[in-house]
Amino acid sequence: MGNLSNLLKQDPRFHSALTSCMNCGMCTAICPAAEFYDYDPRKICDMVQRGDDETIEQLLKSDTIWYCGQCLSCKTRCPRGNAPAEVILILRKVSQEMGYFRFSEKGRQQVEIMEHIGGNILEIGYCVHPDRMPYEKHPEQGPVWDWYLKNIEKVAPKVGANYHGTGPGALRTIPEETMEEIRKIFEETGGMELRHKVLIDR
Ligand code: SF4
Ligand code: SF4
Repeated sequence: MGNLSNLLKQDPRFHSALTSCMNCGMCTAICPAAEFYDYDPRKICDMVQRGDDETIEQLLKSDTIWYCGQCLSCKTRCPRGNAPAEVILILRKVSQEMGYFRFSEKGRQQVEIMEHIGGNILEIGYCVHPDRMPYEKHPEQGPVWDWYLKNIEKVAPKVGANYHGTGPGALRTIPEETMEEIRKIFEETGGMELRHKVLIDR
């Protein structure tokens, strides 16, 4: 076992994520990502289980670990109770910690995700929010998005949203007390530090 293999195992999620893979392929058979990409959770679990550092490094530098959509279907079907989805999360974390994510196109896209999606969560409590998606920067949304943003005050109540309101409802303003809690969770779980590492070369 090498350093990278040990690093994966140090993650507190590891021992519930991968106990003993018997290579049956049930996870791949159920995996929706495997239908669209050159992606195989069975192979990933096998590589991690073998613990060969050279192979693990290649995995950490590859696009492969970013294809998973975290639907968790694999976890429900594994006869050994493994959770390939969580193995992937651990690989992603180590890839970001070690800077290996920069070697793959999908990995490099994490910089944008950390900056924008992560920034939104930390600043307003939403991953995505219409206020953060101006039409000029998101023309791919089509002209209906432009119209929606211009008319959001009128449209939101019609679909039950509570745009910038207090109390419950989609698009409500997240109270500062809750925002502080969210930031604290990021601090305590190492999310803030990881974000800093990914964004360091920005
Ligand atoms: S379903 Fe479970 S045991 Fe089978 S290949 Fe996937 S992780 Fe391994
Ligand atoms: S969580 Fe990921 S690996 Fe598991 S089935 Fe869904 S897409 Fe596939």
